[in-house]
Amino acid sequence: MAMFDKKAGVSSGASPEEMECDRRLGELARQRADAITQMGLMFFASNTPVSVADTPFAPYMNTVMEIDKQTAFLEKRKLALRGLRKCEKCGNILVLDSAFCNKCGEKFGPLFAAENAAQHLCPQCGASYADGAAFCTACGYRLNGSV
Ligand SMILES: [Zn+2]
Ligand SMILES: [Zn+2]
Repeated sequence: MAMFDKKAGVSSGASPEEMECDRRLGELARQRADAITQMGLMFFASNTPVSVADTPFAPYMNTVMEIDKQTAFLEKRKLALRGLRKCEKCGNILVLDSAFCNKCGEKFGPLFAAENAAQHLCPQCGASYADGAAFCTACGYRLNGSV
């Protein structure tokens, strides 16, 4: 049985040396991807959409900016669904209907004011509402005149 296994291993499977090569190839590929990512992060940190405007980097820069925007929005929405909001100035987490940050004193406007019109989200709590609704069904906020 042991002999058969050994023979099968040599003829059809990978030898230990070959497996070691694969292991090292995988490791090198990971290290390379990490280095490329670091290089990309440095490039991203030291450039702006304007500085790359007429270069082949522009679409990637815009993609990252757009993803960051959507990420920030979803994180804000997720917190709001738990009745919380984050102070954008100092990072403090407070209850959703706070008027001021109790840590840095930042005055808060409606949380989803910017997204409200385009995405039909209640500015107060972030719940979605139907076209033409007069009040938010989640928190009762008056949705004055938005279409
Ligand atoms: Zn704050
Ligand atoms: Zn609401």
